[in-house]
Amino acid sequence: MTFTVPQARKLLTELPGPKSVELQARRERSVSRGAGTLANIYMDHGSGAILVDVDGNQLIDLGCGIGVTTIGHAHPEVAAAASAQASKLTHTLFTVTPYENYVKVAEKLAEITPGDFEKHSILVNTGAEAVENAVKIARKFTGRRAIVALDHAFHGRTNLTMAMTYRPWPERAGMGPFPGEIYSVPISYPFRDGLSGEEAAEKTIDYITTHIGASEVAAFFVEPIQGDGGIIIPAPGYFKRLSEFCTENGIVFVADEIQAGIARTGVWYSIEHHGVVPDLITTAKGIAGGFPLAAVTGRAEIMDSVQPGGIGGTFGGNPVSTAAALAVFDIIEKENLLEAAQNVERMLRSRIGDWADKYDFVGEVRGKGAMFGVELVKPGTKIPNPEALASVLKYVTTHGVIALDAGSWDSVLRIMPSVVISEELIDDAATVIEEAFALL
Ligand SMILES: *Cc1c(COP(=O)(O)O)cnc(C)c1O
Repeated sequence: MTFTVPQARKLLTELPGPKSVELQARRERSVSRGAGTLANIYMDHGSGAILVDVDGNQLIDLGCGIGVTTIGHAHPEVAAAASAQASKLTHTLFTVTPYENYVKVAEKLAEITPGDFEKHSILVNTGAEAVENAVKIARKFTGRRAIVALDHAFHGRTNLTMAMTYRPWPERAGMGPFPGEIYSVPISYPFRDGLSGEEAAEKTIDYITTHIGASEVAAFFVEPIQGDGGIIIPAPGYFKRLSEFCTENGIVFVADEIQAGIARTGVWYSIEHHGVVPDLITTAKGIAGGFPLAAVTGRAEIMDSVQPGGIGGTFGGNPVSTAAALAVFDIIEKENLLEAAQNVERMLRSRIGDWADKYDFVGEVRGKGAMFGVELVKPGTKIPNPEALASVLKYVTTHGVIALDAGSWDSVLRIMPSVVISEELIDDAATVIEEAFALL
C-alpha cells in the first residue's frame, strides 16, 4: 500500500508538545480521571505504522491502540468503504430489518475461523460484549453456570468480564460486587513455571476438578496468546489437553481472540499455533481497522441454542463497521498480511531476540507475528521489575515511540506494531528502547 505519511520518526518539539500540553489541561477539566492515559500526546492523523501528533511530530506506533490498527493507520480502502456506506445507510438495527454486510461478515468469519463444521456468528460492538455474549450462549447451551478463566487473563471491563479478568488493579479494585460462578485457574507460563504443556494442563485440570467440578462448568475461556497478561504463550500441548478435557466433560471451549486474532500473529487466529479447534471464538480489536465491531463465532448448534431475541443489541454489526471489516478482510488477503505478520516476527527476532542474553534485567523475549513481550526482571532473578518498565515507557514515549505495558506485575513491555511496519522502523524503535535500557 502507499502511505500518506513518510514512514519515519520525526520530532519537531519536545514530547508532549505545546498543543498536547494545552489539550491535556482542557482534558483534565472535562474527562474522567478513570480514563487513564499511557502518554498524553494528542494524535491528529496516522498512516501505516506512524502516528502524527497535533504538534506535527511523527511517532512510531508499536501499540496500534492495543492491537486494533493491525493493517496500519487510516487505510485508504477502509476509509473509502466506511465513507461510502455512511452516505448510503448508517443504521436499521439488524434485528429489526437486516442488511447484507452483516451476513457477509458472518460468512467470512465462518470461513476464516478454525474448524470444519457449520459455524454461526452474532455481531456486537466491543470485545467485552462479545465475551459476555459467549458466556450467555455457553450457559444456555449447557444448562450450567460455572465459567472458568485463566490466571493473568484479560476479558474486559464490564461487570461480568471484569470478574473474569485476573488482576484487581486497576481493572477491578473498588468496583464490585462481582457476579458469582466465575473461577480463575492456573495457566501454563513457561518462563515462570518451567512445566511442559501436559504437566501444566494436569495442574489446571486438577484445580478445576478439586475446586469447581468439571460437570458444573459451562465454558472455559482462554486467550491462546495472552495480551494484557504479558504476552504469555502457554507451552506446546497445553491447549490440546485442555480442549480434550472440555470435550470429555461437555464444557464449551472458548478462544478469546480479541487481541491475538485477525492476522496479528501471522495466522487468522492465534489458536492455530496450538493446533486446537475451539467451540466458540470471540473476535474484536483488529477486525474493522478501528471501527467498533466484535463477534462471537462458533458451532452452529451452540450459537443457535439461544432463543431469538436472547442476544443482540442496538448497534451490533453496524452497517459502517461491517463495511470497514469487509474491507479489512479484503486487504489482509490482497496484501498478504498474514505473511507480513510472519515477516515482522522474523525482523523482531533478529533485532530484539537476543535481549535476554544482552541485558540482565530482561528475563525473556517472546512472541508470535507482530505480538511480542519483553519481560523485565530484577537483574539475574525472575522477580518482576515494574520500575524498569515504567522508566522505559517514560523514555520511549517522550522520544517518539509508543509501546505498551502488560503483565499482572506491570513488568512486560508489549510490542504490537502494525504488520505493515518496515524493518527500518523496527530498528529505529528498538534503538530508542535500548537507549532507555542504557539508563536503567
Ligand atoms: C481488549 C480485550 C477485551 C475487551 O475488549 P473491549 O473492546 O475493550 O471491550 C477482551 N479480551 C481480550 C483478550 C482483549 O484483549
